[in-house]
Parts: sequence; structure tokens; C-alpha cells
Amino acid sequence: MKKKIHDKHFVPFLSEAQIQDAVKRIGQQINQDYKDVSPLFIAILNGSFMFASDLFKQLEINAEISFIKLASYKGTSSTGTVVTAIGLEATLHNRDVVIIEDIVDTGKTLSAFIPQILDHHPHSLKICSLLHKKEATVHPIKIDYLGFEIPDLFVVGYGLDYDGLGRNLHQIMQVEN
Ligand code: 5GP
Repeated sequence: MKKKIHDKHFVPFLSEAQIQDAVKRIGQQINQDYKDVSPLFIAILNGSFMFASDLFKQLEINAEISFIKLASYKGTSSTGTVVTAIGLEATLHNRDVVIIEDIVDTGKTLSAFIPQILDHHPHSLKICSLLHKKEATVHPIKIDYLGFEIPDLFVVGYGLDYDGLGRNLHQIMQVEN
């Protein structure tokens, strides 16, 4: 069924069942990979709140989670995009850190944020994202745990918004062309 949000129409793209299957698959991989350590998950708000919550429920290992916001602004031409992490209180030194993102588009946000995490000298750092728009890549990011590779189209739902709305959808919808 179509859905109108603000001025745009959206059509179904990934069903609730497809998303939940991917969340289970990623959860199982993480349970395997981290069975002897207790990782620290850093979920990036707002978009990843639903994915982070469902994924965290799949974990059978000991794990911590912390939610942060990234504020990005344009720096000078030499510094490029500058990203400030709000709410990053956990000590990352020597921790096994997993960043949880909703979607990696150009890769700009994570490519600015990852070096800041590495400055804290974690024991390991992995990236988990529900969606990845490979065709939109400007800054290549190695995604260790991925739900879906998607074409370069605008999507909403399951935490992702269009101008504030649409986050409550259980499915992911794409903008109608
Ligand atoms: P990047 O820095 O990788 O270009 O962009 C990442 C951020 O852009 C995501 O965390 C998300 O907030 C936003 N974004 C990118 N593509 C989409 C999309 O198709 N739909 C929505 N709702 N947000 C997107």
C-alpha cells in the first residue's frame, strides 16, 4: 500500500519480515563473533533507534549499548565535514566497539566519525548498518555487518524519516518516481 508523507508518495520496498530476518541474521553473526568478549554498541540517533533496539534483543552475549547523536557541520576546506558526537560518555579505550547505523549513503558521516573513535584506542572497531547505498559512495566505508545493499533511492520507515515523519513504519518504503 502506498503512503503519502508531506509532499511525496512512498511505495513498499522492504517488508517487516525481510527486515526482521536480516536483524536475526546479523544478531547471530554478532553472537558468534563476540561470544568471549562484551562489546560496546554505539547506536547513532535518531535513525538507528529501532534497528538498534531489535538487534540488541537478538544478542545472547554480554553487551552494553550507548546512544549518541552526531552533529555535523562544514569545516574549512582542509578539515572537510566536522562531526561532533553528543552523549559519548563511555570509555572506549581497549573496548570492542560496534557502531550501529541506519544507513550508509555517501559515507561522509562515518568517515568523519570513525577517526574520532579510533583516537580513543578501542581494542577493535566494527561497523554495522541496516542499509548501504553502494552507488552513492563518496567515502568508502567497510561495513562488517550489513542488512541490505540498496539502490541510490530515498527510503523511509523503521526509524528513518522524511522531514521528521515516517519513523514509526514497520517496513521500509521507497519514494515513488
Ligand atoms: P552519509 O553521511 O553516509 O551520506 O549519510 C548518512 C545519513 O544520511 C544517514 O544516517 C541518514 O540519516 C541520512 N540518509 C541517507 N540516505 C537516506 C535515505 O534514503 N533516507 C533517509 N531517511 N535518510 C537517509
